[in-house]
Amino acid sequence: MIRLFATLLAAIMLAGCATAQAPPPERRIALTFDDIPRHQGAFLTTDERVEMLRTTLREAGVEQAAFFVNPGNLHERENGVAHIMAYQADGHVMANHTASHASLSDLTVEDYLAEIGRAEAWLEQLENHRPWFRYPYLNEGRRDHAKRDGVRAGLAERGLVNGYVTADASDWFYDQAASEAVRDGHAVDMEALGELFVESHVEAADFFDDLAVRTIGRSPAHVMLLHEADVTVLFLADLIDALEADGWTIITADEAFADPFGAYAASYDTPSAQGTLTEQVAWQAGLPAPRWYARNDTAVARAAFNARVLGQTGGND
Ligand SMILES: [Zn+2]
Repeated sequence: MIRLFATLLAAIMLAGCATAQAPPPERRIALTFDDIPRHQGAFLTTDERVEMLRTTLREAGVEQAAFFVNPGNLHERENGVAHIMAYQADGHVMANHTASHASLSDLTVEDYLAEIGRAEAWLEQLENHRPWFRYPYLNEGRRDHAKRDGVRAGLAERGLVNGYVTADASDWFYDQAASEAVRDGHAVDMEALGELFVESHVEAADFFDDLAVRTIGRSPAHVMLLHEADVTVLFLADLIDALEADGWTIITADEAFADPFGAYAASYDTPSAQGTLTEQVAWQAGLPAPRWYARNDTAVARAAFNARVLGQTGGND
């Protein structure tokens, strides 16, 4: 009887194993916020925005996000330094985005590296400082390979590494479009805006992950580009929920930037150095376009925004 029971149990367990589905591949993503301290938007004061961002990250259990700072802009923003100290006190980490948000296309390599140096001199005093540099506009010199290589060498000399992005859905666009719509007196459907914002960022994460898998054969730890912008902060809790429902785990910036995928950031060689690292590595590997998420084309994002958030049918505003 006991033996029969044991056999039966073993059979049930085997059946259980046979029908159990393989777990979905793990997909990991870190959240990063650029342009600290960002200008005030149309919906929140900068104090409100910082508090909401901190609360959202804490309540969602996001242990560590990265903030890319423009220290040269701090004098223009009330409480800017206090905001950075508050992020830091929450366990988040701070890194370099040039002193004044310079574009590499506008400066010589020497002047650009001086911008990086000025930012680094300020950031070095912070306890949670990381040696990461994020190019404003993700502009790494575009077609000017002498600039690209000159800055890469300058970063290496300074002990800095590229604080690259692997997933981007142009969050800044939705903030800008909504701000302009409010300014122009349009009725903004905030619920529709949130849905469009969240949907775009989840689709972008999925798009760039698929692109990475097709390029390197595995899902790397991802780095999502976001900004300290009103619309981003207003819908961040919804975005984190949606990413998790889509199978993503939010990881620390430290974990993401430790992924071997990041090694490509110092060495990729494509005709034009700008955009996500995922795009660049796919381009180098010869994958066909599109190597970017569709709504990173502002005209595509604009059409979706006008139709869904402003309720406009056809034509541009
Ligand atoms: Zn920026």
